[in-house]
Amino acid sequence: MAIDKIELTEPPIDYYMVDRIWTMLKQETGAPSDLIPPPLVLDWNMPQLAKMAFQYPTNEYPDNRIQISVAPRTIDLWSRDVVSWGVGHEYLHYLWILEENGWRMSGTFEAKRKHHCNGDFMAITNKVADLIWSVYHDGQEQSTMYKEAHTACRERPNQ
Ligand SMILES: [Zn+2]
Repeated sequence: MAIDKIELTEPPIDYYMVDRIWTMLKQETGAPSDLIPPPLVLDWNMPQLAKMAFQYPTNEYPDNRIQISVAPRTIDLWSRDVVSWGVGHEYLHYLWILEENGWRMSGTFEAKRKHHCNGDFMAITNKVADLIWSVYHDGQEQSTMYKEAHTACRERPNQ
């Protein structure tokens, strides 16, 4: 019998925290309350330096699936709490893209504004950091998250 797959252990994602972040972000953005989050996918095909990315069908790439890709190395490089924050950051991209397209759930999507340097986007991701802090009280982790928000603006201002 040929070997054609590998078994995987579950990555240490803090689903309790991620679920609370999702609920908070829906309230922040006025999203439909029954909206479900996009799937999280451990993705070995991510570009070398990418940690996480929100993917969605566009006019150029209509076959893209709506998902949040997580590079496996991210789980090693980032702490549990910063991973939760990063998922929240990607969730906010998702919610803003849906809002920018009239909360329509099918077809292709277009980003109508730049997110990373937008003051509201940064303020909401800081609220995600504050929510995580309110549960685990780690001020160092919280300041790492604040810094990551600025890094996203500095390094990827067009996203
Ligand atoms: Zn981003």
